[in-house]
Amino acid sequence: MRRGITLAAIVAVGVLPVTLTGLQQLNQGAVDGAQIEQVKGNLYVIKGSTPVDRDLFSGGNVGVFVMDSGVAVVDTKLPGWGQVLLDRIRSVTDKPVVTIINTHTHGDHVGSNEFFPDTVNIVAHANTKTNMEEMPGFQGMNAKYLPKQTFTDRLTLGSGADQVDLYYFGAGHTNGDTFIVYPALGVLQTGDMFPWRDAPFLDVNNGGSGVALPNSLSEAISTIQGVDTVVPGHIPVTTWESFQEFQRFTADLLSAVRTAKGAGQSADQATRTVDLSGRYPDYDSTRVEAAVRVIFDELP
Ligand SMILES: [Zn+2]
Repeated sequence: MRRGITLAAIVAVGVLPVTLTGLQQLNQGAVDGAQIEQVKGNLYVIKGSTPVDRDLFSGGNVGVFVMDSGVAVVDTKLPGWGQVLLDRIRSVTDKPVVTIINTHTHGDHVGSNEFFPDTVNIVAHANTKTNMEEMPGFQGMNAKYLPKQTFTDRLTLGSGADQVDLYYFGAGHTNGDTFIVYPALGVLQTGDMFPWRDAPFLDVNNGGSGVALPNSLSEAISTIQGVDTVVPGHIPVTTWESFQEFQRFTADLLSAVRTAKGAGQSADQATRTVDLSGRYPDYDSTRVEAAVRVIFDELP
């Protein structure tokens, strides 16, 4: 009891020794935001955040799927977050992490792969492995934290309550984004193919495409069955209907840019005339201009 009081007092005045936390590199507000929550049954999410507030940014949502054989972790946030992830996982299970699935190549989703033992199987789409091979964080000795198992269209891991289905439906955010379905729970984890309620980030340098995105999302919607709950890339857990709405948003965005360009507008003019806020009142518009420019350049 006395020890508990002392620790509480130390925490209260903010001088907790770094050896007790291992978190000295991280913003405390960001750490506090990265709590673990149950999604359903044996699936949890370690909450992500969005880069709108850099100081509080931890990376994307992390799926924590507790299987008989161990834990599958979907995405690993920014570099330096491994200990926080493990602490959060330890609050729900003592089982070892046996699998990491990386939804795509970005540093806020693959950054802490290197924290985990190199015996962990790392799984991703083949294009994502290729993209990750170009990243500074995966050179030399760190190449062992690249994906060890890849797929191109579909891959099933485990069975029964532990089954995880991985799907690829084409380019969008990048050219290697994986959708993860937990069929026993009716849950879909989208990575950044559905990151937030705002225009998508379209990473053309990694094969992303705002022209392909609406079609890839509609393939997902028509193929995936039995899902009611969705873990997006960065925002809180939501519904299948909200995922469908994002598909419509991306289709409407593409069509609005196509109309603007077809009418002879310049890219600058298109960024001023394309406005979906009336149709999508719950959506932010901080990323619309960048997305309009990418799509404008992609269109013939
Ligand atoms: Zn991303």
